[in-house]
Amino acid sequence: MLRRNALWAVRLEWPAGDHEFGCPRSDEAAALRELDRVRSYWARGPMRPRLSLVRISHHDFELHAKARRGCKAPDCP
Ligand SMILES: [Zn+2]
Repeated sequence: MLRRNALWAVRLEWPAGDHEFGCPRSDEAAALRELDRVRSYWARGPMRPRLSLVRISHHDFELHAKARRGCKAPDCP
C-alpha cells in the first residue's frame, strides 16, 4: 500500500497497554472531528482509554481490525 494512501485514525490505548485503531478518515479535519466525538463518547463512562490521532497505513489498520486484537507492539503508530 502506498504511503500517500495512509489514513488518519483514532488510536485508543487501554490501561493494560494494548491499543486499537478506529474511525479511519482520509483527511485530517474529518479525523479531528472523529477524535472529538470519540473523546466525548468515552468521557461518559468509567473506561478512559488514552486517545490520540495517528497516521496509519491501510494495511496496518486492517491488520489491527482483524488479526491484532490486543496488540501491544511498541512500533505501531
Ligand atoms: Zn499494534
